[in-house]
Amino acid sequence: MNFSHCTKEQAVEQAARSGRWDDDLRAHAAACSVCADIALVVRFMQLDGELARREAGLPDPGRIWWKAHLREKQMAAERAVRPIAVCQRVACLWGTLTATSILVWEWPRLSSRLDGLKLLLHQAASPGSRPQTDLFAFIGGSLFMFLFSILITLYASWAEE
Ligand SMILES: [Zn+2]
Repeated sequence: MNFSHCTKEQAVEQAARSGRWDDDLRAHAAACSVCADIALVVRFMQLDGELARREAGLPDPGRIWWKAHLREKQMAAERAVRPIAVCQRVACLWGTLTATSILVWEWPRLSSRLDGLKLLLHQAASPGSRPQTDLFAFIGGSLFMFLFSILITLYASWAEE
């Protein structure tokens, strides 16, 4: 196999790539088989590249940039909110533990007060005594608010996940 060389190969290749030919180089490429082959191969590679780009169906660069920008904003927002979410979970856990601890530690006193409440209810139910509706409303309202706040806390922590 015999490979021929020409001193103007580089110049022909650059002219073929850029499309800027001078008259001497164009005349040389037409006469020299090595340079004609180089020009033909360069042109073929350019056309093949253009065809491949068209067939690939590249998406709009503006759309790619917009999506990347949007994704970056979302990630920044998630990073900014992450400490708040951690604090909320810690606060929910802390509140639940505190409420449970108070219930457990104060249960003997609560139990004795519930016994007192039972006695009050019994007295209220007995004929001839004045019903103590204020006390019942206060205790019932407090119990309702306590259970309601626990339900809201549990729902908030569940909804985040
Ligand atoms: Zn040549």
